[in-house]
Amino acid sequence: MNQVDYLRISLIDRCNFRCQYCMPEGVELDYILKQQLLTDEELLTLVREVFIPVGFTRFRLTGGEPLLRPRVAELVSAIASLSQTQDLSMTTNGFLLASMAQSLYNAGLRRINISLDSLDPDVFDQIIGNRGRSRWQDVWNGIQAAYNVGFNPLKLNVVVIPGVNDHEVLDLAALTIDKQWHVRFIEFMPIGNARLFGDRGWVPSAELRQSIRARWGLTEAQVYGSGPADVFQIPGAKGTLGFISQMSECFCDRCNRMRLSADGWLRPCLLNETGQIDLKTALRAGVSTAELREQVKQLLTIKPEVNFKQRDSGTAGAYTRTMSQIGG
Ligand code: SAM
Ligand code: SF4
Repeated sequence: MNQVDYLRISLIDRCNFRCQYCMPEGVELDYILKQQLLTDEELLTLVREVFIPVGFTRFRLTGGEPLLRPRVAELVSAIASLSQTQDLSMTTNGFLLASMAQSLYNAGLRRINISLDSLDPDVFDQIIGNRGRSRWQDVWNGIQAAYNVGFNPLKLNVVVIPGVNDHEVLDLAALTIDKQWHVRFIEFMPIGNARLFGDRGWVPSAELRQSIRARWGLTEAQVYGSGPADVFQIPGAKGTLGFISQMSECFCDRCNRMRLSADGWLRPCLLNETGQIDLKTALRAGVSTAELREQVKQLLTIKPEVNFKQRDSGTAGAYTRTMSQIGG
């Protein structure tokens, strides 16, 4: 088992998008009440006095949409300035990024992942569930702003859905040729919208690589913080292509992460909640951080190795929580 040193921290479960594959319109979610969210102080106490002492040194801020969290730059600054923090990153939908990129960078954030499922504004708006003014340009401006202030590596996350955006794979891959952008294709998982998953299915990364290889060729490559992604490059390109293949491959034995939800539940695995701990309730009940460290250490020893494919077979929709609720 890998050393588990990477914590994905959900700052909020709400979102300003309603992506079809994540939290589609019409599906009622039980949002976390404001008083149930970890406060900034509680979150920082957990990071400083529980997670860092048990060996976590790498943190990703996510959600829901993390840029909706009030005072997010202050939180970034507080975590980035801890001497034990070796790596701090964020995953965002980019909608609010154009105006926030500089302050996040100034606060100490250096790398960022932005979701961009389509280059076609109509397809994009259809995916994010938007019926008003198109939001594609805002996200594109956010990506440019992040690039211009110096985020590096800057990664673009694409969830590939058959019949929705799979025809754009080559165009999205081509973004890496002239710019040092790192495009990551993510296999669609049966989390969130089980119905869409059942109707559309998913595209194996190997198929995507085959079509990209046929067009330009493909060599193995590396990029900082690639985690479970297999990384390749179009020969001569400035950026790279990552493939996250959690449906076609099981990389549970390489998993080095846990997830903290916005209401303080620590989960050992995206798919398996065995042993999860309610750190917020414990903290509010006056349980000491020394005791919480022991509980987290115990959870680390039982972090299960779950075979994703077995869990999925024939049971699309088995996962009742969305990525936005768990902290994707
Ligand atoms: N709102 C931010 C965003 O969209 O980047 C951060 C949270 S979102 C839950 C994190 C990542 O999870 C996004 O890249 C999103 O595309 C991905 N995601 C959500 N639901 C998914 C699903 N069913 N299958 C694969 N990826 C999914
Ligand atoms: Fe929001 Fe991200 Fe989920 Fe889309 S994938 S609905 S942007 S949390």
